[in-house]
Amino acid sequence: MGSEGYLLNQFLCRRVNRRTDEWGGPIENRVRLPAEIVKAVRAATGGDFLVIYRLSLLDLVEGGNTWDEIVVAAKALEAAGVNLLNTGIGWHEARVPTIVTSVPRAAFRGVTARIKRELSIPVCASNRINTPEVAEEIVASGDADLVSMARPLLADPEFVTKAAAGRADEINTCIACNQACLDHAFVYKRCSCLVNPRACHETELVIAPARTPRKIAVVGAGMAGLAAATTAAERGHRVTLFEADTAIGGQFRMAAAVPGKEEFRETIRYFETRLARTGVEVRLGAKATARDLEGGFDAIVIATGVVPRRPRIEGLDHPKVLLYTDVLRERRPVGRRVAVIGAGGIGVDVCAFLLHDPNETTEHFEKAWGIDPAVSREGGLGEPAPRTPRREIWLLQRKPATRSMGAGPGKTSGWAHRLDLAREGVRMLGGVEYLRVDDAGLRIRYDDETQTIPVDSVIVCAGQESVRDLLPAGADGTPSDPRYHVIGGADVAVELDAKRAIRQGTLLAARL
Ligand code: NAP
Ligand code: SF4
Repeated sequence: MGSEGYLLNQFLCRRVNRRTDEWGGPIENRVRLPAEIVKAVRAATGGDFLVIYRLSLLDLVEGGNTWDEIVVAAKALEAAGVNLLNTGIGWHEARVPTIVTSVPRAAFRGVTARIKRELSIPVCASNRINTPEVAEEIVASGDADLVSMARPLLADPEFVTKAAAGRADEINTCIACNQACLDHAFVYKRCSCLVNPRACHETELVIAPARTPRKIAVVGAGMAGLAAATTAAERGHRVTLFEADTAIGGQFRMAAAVPGKEEFRETIRYFETRLARTGVEVRLGAKATARDLEGGFDAIVIATGVVPRRPRIEGLDHPKVLLYTDVLRERRPVGRRVAVIGAGGIGVDVCAFLLHDPNETTEHFEKAWGIDPAVSREGGLGEPAPRTPRREIWLLQRKPATRSMGAGPGKTSGWAHRLDLAREGVRMLGGVEYLRVDDAGLRIRYDDETQTIPVDSVIVCAGQESVRDLLPAGADGTPSDPRYHVIGGADVAVELDAKRAIRQGTLLAARL
């Protein structure tokens, strides 16, 4: 592992290596430690042992290597006995996103193709390669001899088997969210996967055939309902899935409209295939009624999700006020100057939706983040291109502003959202009191002063409330009929995300 800013990468770069002896100075000296280690590994393991070296082809930090230096290092490593060179992109310290959802697929294949022309050993492309089609295209084009994947195999351990059998549409695709893998790893929690809660829990979360097949109704085809319905059907239950909308996916389908979250469509495609394969009876455009659920079902799963919260603010019925669902789902027109009420994950998503073109290319991504694909400068790091924001946005919350405001929920991806919004000129204000909405804009109290933010649109992203009107419940809100179970946002709306929804749906169906 000679990349991502770990020890060998540190020796390789002037950024950290300040030595004045034969281990520092010119690149020929800086590569000495990695090359000596490779030689020692080769000597200890013999000629038929595969030594793979992951070399940073783009450091993306100041004091990183230039292309000429990277070529010298790669050739020295080949001469030292490396059999296969893998591609590393960016130190952990880099302030350029390299693996999160908003990074275009295979964005860094170009540097792999370039190093391949310098070497006689095979090279491997890496980062944001998450489908067999992308992998196949990279290899077929000659840009790389192999591709490496890590997160996609957490999302679906059968990735390779399914691809080889021509069943790519059954693959549970990694959406590059980091929410259950890296976000867990960096706080010393066991890794898992947002789209596959069985990852790293295989012996605990067992999906065994049901002893007695039962008739199960699932109401709501958001992430929780889809996970419950398909898991239950896989176990041999007869499942009917009711969905009021004409398509599955719920909040997740809406989020897929946000630029940089296009991968979410893969999860919806995966569930569409899985529903068909497991034989779930899907009733779309069917808002289930109490009568539908009355007889005949042994278990009823309420996964009816959430509705947006409407806070009590004077003038909230003004025509310039929209809910986030009006914007993301209904595509209602939004003005040029916008106030977003609520700076949680959805507030951040709405800003991205209003600021970015959904068809941004890899070239645009490189320019926006200052990536110099020629690596003519140290670390391949240039100046981010100046942006001309499409809108003027104020992102607001009542809590005091913190360093993470505008970052959304992801620990390892939030900094990229926040930096992106800051570069788009979004003004983030915490400690705001909302006074009223009127023709002039949004009246607030901020820093002990009242002021009007002169906006054309006010978009409410103030959290959600559970929808559980089909649940026969006692005074404490728990089901009064033991056949009923509540999952996802219908269960708890606060801090709901797809990770909790999919996990809860899967866990419930595993024991039904
Ligand atoms: P959220 O994260 O709970 O944020 C709600 C926002 O609304 C907060 O900023 C809150 O700030 C504000 N708010 C709450 N009550 C309010 C009220 N009565 N009046 C005015 N403002 C109010 O919820 P969300 O943004 O709707 O997101 C919902 C869930 O989806 C969250 O768990 C989130 O993590 C998840 N999500 C995940 C992603 C992802 O990419 N993984 C993306 C989007 C959403 P103040 O109370 O300080 O005003
Ligand atoms: Fe991929 Fe997200 Fe799963 Fe990590 S948690 S493996 S990024 S889908």
